[in-house]
Amino acid sequence: MQAITYERASDVGAALNAARQPGVAFIGGGTNLLDLMKGGVATPRTLVDINHIEGLDSIAALPGGGLRIGALVRNSDAANHPMVRERYPLLSEAILAGASAQLRNMATMGGNLMQRTRCHYFYDTAFPCCNKRSPGSGCAAMEGNNRIHAILGASSLCIATNPSDMNVAMAALDAVIQVRGPQGERAIPIEQFHRLPGDHPELDTTLQAGELITAIDLPAPIFAEHEHYLKIRDRASYAFALVSVAVGLQMDKGKVRTVHIALGGVAHKPWRATATEQMLTGQALSADTLRDAAALAVVDAKAYSGNGFKIALAQRAIVRAVSTAGGLA
Ligand code: SF4
Repeated sequence: MQAITYERASDVGAALNAARQPGVAFIGGGTNLLDLMKGGVATPRTLVDINHIEGLDSIAALPGGGLRIGALVRNSDAANHPMVRERYPLLSEAILAGASAQLRNMATMGGNLMQRTRCHYFYDTAFPCCNKRSPGSGCAAMEGNNRIHAILGASSLCIATNPSDMNVAMAALDAVIQVRGPQGERAIPIEQFHRLPGDHPELDTTLQAGELITAIDLPAPIFAEHEHYLKIRDRASYAFALVSVAVGLQMDKGKVRTVHIALGGVAHKPWRATATEQMLTGQALSADTLRDAAALAVVDAKAYSGNGFKIALAQRAIVRAVSTAGGLA
């Protein structure tokens, strides 16, 4: 077992300073990181505990009607916060669909953004071939058990999926991730935060070395009346999504004024179904329209030996989720 050094940061500056050394990992709830460390998948030399940094554990209204959720807010506290439940029920539903109550009590909002894939081969170091764990080693899932893997946006090096429910809702809500790092502060739209595997599947996000997530900003709510998070999984609790759909709808005189649709369980990042959104905009919701629009979401889908069912499942899930959000179901 590799020895590790533990440091406790009292403020963001101290955390950033500690992160100048090589081999540092920030730890909040640790619900994913500690699993990875116990399995020998993550091997940081230093853990910088950020749990005691003041000011990152609050939820506050933003000027203009948005909401800022601190990176250290626990998932359960965010899901049950009155402003989140009232103004962003989609986010609350998605968080509560994930993990167990115990895990949600520990896991932080910033950590949830950083969750790593649940690809079996990534977690099991007995398998030598995993480009995400060991760049250049190959991908065991490509010819192996790939039932839970991606149908959209994959590369020849990795077909893993992002496992988070929360991230799917964040994508539909156009969240913006606030970070601080050696170069100062920056705001990253969630669409640009998670990345596709491409030639570097070892990188899940666009965070730079030493950067720390400080908060997640949500724009003023427009979907509170018509939203839905649908999660389809192998069993009713404590399972990752095979396919999930986050829908936010704005209706105007029976027609769609705005619709945001994000898919989970199908790609290396939360996947916005933009062609589906465009086709539905301005339309009255009907079964035929929804079915045709849902088909556009998987035009570029590619199935592997065990996950072809996701192509049909994703379409049906979109139809059901939008129908529910729009009051058709
Ligand atoms: Fe590794 Fe990605 Fe292949 Fe899974 S899909 S074995 S994470 S390279």
